[in-house]
Amino acid sequence: MRRFLPLTVVLVLAACVKTGAAGGILPTSTPGPTRSGPSGQLVAPVLPVLDGAPQRPLYTLNVTLDYRNSALVTQQRIEFKNPTGADTKELRFLIPPARRGEIDIKDVRVFGSANPLTYTLTQSNTVLVVPLPAPLGARDAIAMAFEFTVKIPLQEQAAGIGGDDSSRGPSSLTAGHWYLMLAPWRSEGGWDTPAYAPIGDPYTGELADYIANILAPEGVIVAGAGDETREGRQWRYRLNNARVFAFAASDTFKIDQSNVDGVNFVMYSYPQHQKFAEDVLITAERSVKLYSELYGPYPFKTLRIVETGRAQGQEYSAFVGLGQALFTGYSGSGARHDIIATTAHEVAHQWWFQAVGNDQIRQPWMDESFARMSEYRYYQRYYPADADWWMKYFITYSEAKGAIDQSLYEYKDARSYIDAVYRRGFQFLNDVRAKVGDAAYDSAVKAYFNQAQNATASRDAFFDALAARATVDLTPLTRSYFAVPPALPCKLSNNAAGCRR
Ligand SMILES: [Zn+2]
Repeated sequence: MRRFLPLTVVLVLAACVKTGAAGGILPTSTPGPTRSGPSGQLVAPVLPVLDGAPQRPLYTLNVTLDYRNSALVTQQRIEFKNPTGADTKELRFLIPPARRGEIDIKDVRVFGSANPLTYTLTQSNTVLVVPLPAPLGARDAIAMAFEFTVKIPLQEQAAGIGGDDSSRGPSSLTAGHWYLMLAPWRSEGGWDTPAYAPIGDPYTGELADYIANILAPEGVIVAGAGDETREGRQWRYRLNNARVFAFAASDTFKIDQSNVDGVNFVMYSYPQHQKFAEDVLITAERSVKLYSELYGPYPFKTLRIVETGRAQGQEYSAFVGLGQALFTGYSGSGARHDIIATTAHEVAHQWWFQAVGNDQIRQPWMDESFARMSEYRYYQRYYPADADWWMKYFITYSEAKGAIDQSLYEYKDARSYIDAVYRRGFQFLNDVRAKVGDAAYDSAVKAYFNQAQNATASRDAFFDALAARATVDLTPLTRSYFAVPPALPCKLSNNAAGCRR
């Protein structure tokens, strides 16, 4: 067994600590690596690396929820492999809500170490930079332990699509990317610590496993993602292979649920909207059925649909947020309403965001246009008489402009982002569908989904899946929709020079 670093220093056997088992207990009394040898000579510090590397990062989150003050008092442990592919002397973590909220970090250390580490918070407190006392080997795994309190910021009234996905409204608190998330490492560019953007979903993360224990005050209902067990005020969750662990809490939630084809659907409504819970649940159930057929199986056993104080929907893993404003004007019948379309849309993100991940900041069209298309397919399947209404209401009410393939930072406001990504992104896919035919399109999307699930979306993979099923020239379409048109496969570009075989 190796696992001591660095190999060239005198090893202090008494300092050997193995921390392979998952656990949520902070290591304040655990013996850690020693900085002086038996005879008192100084030796380089060693990292208590893990005995085995987890397949994905494993987060253990122990939260005491101070609901009144919107504060999450958290002990967090995360074990993970060195993602950088080389020895590294620094780790970076993301905590977006600290941008407008408050973060109070009490302790940062390598799990198993007696000594806390120094750290810095940068980018408006949303990026935690932790220098390590010794390099973490390229192939080694480590666990980090944190103690911190984060205060979830108050609800903002963002126009269009954007704003924090963690926020406190009058009737509930929603915690999205709220904990210290290991920043993704990009082979080009290093640690990915994106700046906030006021539109879209300015978040990034990798698939991970989660164990969360949330102690809530009496009378507060917690809605967390994944498998739930509850003992009184203690709410426990287990969520595997997820992009994010989100939860919400409220002292007014009303709960309705159903079970269809082995999936447990749970709706959390504010009291005034509970009468619509059944309509939302039916929409979610049908969406899961349709998308399972079109793309692949729903990846979890439970889907939580949670009303929030926001004006819009929001996707998380195994969890969908529906802003209370979406219910405005809904009569409780028919499908010609935002609440139905948005439910179908947000559920589709379980396939296009959760299963097939994508860079939501640099290539937001790669999940949004597919979610939009799913929404349209929902109407075509279940409300064919309303599909034209959907098209006019959401897409063709005016001419939309803008390249679909830009980053969040390049769209000047929410309006231009929606026009380009949500309207023209959909139109691009719909035009492709018309060109190649429904059967080839559906078969290609399914193949692309299967190839890309549990990985990151790639437009080349999407076009390759189409090229395996159709021979058409998509060059004029890609030129009109993309700022940087892709190099298309030869079968989709009339054998253009430089095409992909
Ligand atoms: Zn969306």
